[in-house]
Amino acid sequence: MSTSRPFIYADHAASTPLAPEAWEAMKPFLLDNFANPSSLYALSRPAKKALMAARETIAECLGAEPDEILFTSGGTESDNWALKGSIPLENAAGKTSFVTSKIEHHAVLRTCRAVEGMGVSVNHLPVNGQGEILPEVLKERISGDTRLVSVMLANNEIGTIQPIRELAEIAHAHGAVFHTDAVQAVGHIPVNVRELGVELLSASAHKFNGPRGAGFLYVKRGTPLTPYLDGGAQEFGMRAGTENTAAVAGMAAALKKNCTEMKETAAHLRELEKRLLTLLAQSGQPFTRNGGRRRLPGLLSLSFPEKNGEALLHRLDLHGICVSTGAACDSQKTQTSHVLTAIALPEPLAVGTLRVSFGRENTLSEAETIAQRLDRLLKMQDPVFRPSSSSEVILFRPS
Ligand code: PLP
Repeated sequence: MSTSRPFIYADHAASTPLAPEAWEAMKPFLLDNFANPSSLYALSRPAKKALMAARETIAECLGAEPDEILFTSGGTESDNWALKGSIPLENAAGKTSFVTSKIEHHAVLRTCRAVEGMGVSVNHLPVNGQGEILPEVLKERISGDTRLVSVMLANNEIGTIQPIRELAEIAHAHGAVFHTDAVQAVGHIPVNVRELGVELLSASAHKFNGPRGAGFLYVKRGTPLTPYLDGGAQEFGMRAGTENTAAVAGMAAALKKNCTEMKETAAHLRELEKRLLTLLAQSGQPFTRNGGRRRLPGLLSLSFPEKNGEALLHRLDLHGICVSTGAACDSQKTQTSHVLTAIALPEPLAVGTLRVSFGRENTLSEAETIAQRLDRLLKMQDPVFRPSSSSEVILFRPS
């Protein structure tokens, strides 16, 4: 990010800025090459070619085959499709249940609730204090009637990376299909579908510097899955609807850039993390960092005891700093996130949780500014920074 910008954006787990390479790849399909990729005349050929090239690029980045990449509108759709498309089929041979975890994104958790309404029973795996799913726990909970195991690759709130390969092996030993929501991981840490051993994988372009509203579902050849949208023959007859050529082209360009620069970017993000943590520690402010031993680079879930994360977020916003919180306020009460609840974070810490997620354009001086600003806010005796009781907070109102 250029230092001349009037804000510091440190919420990349929520969304990322579009890579210039992605924008360049998109432009022709928004302006001159607007034709429907399915049309038969020459004008539509560039669009058709762009879709093919994007499928190849994405497949290459993930160690997949091009026909295993199905374009969607993003992570939420990919998750919905993976789960709803795996609902016990007629030939399911008594496999009528799913296993997932307690810390999945709502795109998975709410879809699980929907499939429960369709007769599927769902078992939610607990996590340890670092947000890790222990393979022994899956072994205990899985059974011969498990059709699908869905566990995210990396958590969006605390960054914990799960042992997907080991979990997938356990699922396969029980004849189950494995889905991973890799929305936070793709483009940020190495993701190879063959090495992970998964049959289904969800990704979203706007998390890796591509456009919002585009994503894909990896479907290993031979995996049973029902079509998601009925209509035309797009996406191998599995998801009807005229493709968003520009978004798909932008997604592929963004992913290629991220994968090419992954090592250097990760090193830069670890530097930013280190600077922020060092300055916070030097300030003497008590805080804890949440997450596992293996974490996404650049994502820090920080809990400040007896402080109010929501109020801190708004004060940081007034200073042009964009971060997230781990607990959301409705008009009266604080609702602790299901992830912080699952890792058993005590309420006074959960309420004081902020998520800072850096991106490659952030600078060391921006990390320093965030640390200094946070230090000043945390030292203020302002009652808006303290929860008024264990479950209620005083909402910050700009004066
Ligand atoms: N899964 C995870 C882990 C996410 O973090 C998100 C978005 O935050 C989603 C799914 C939903 O993705 P999208 O915004 O592309 O629908």
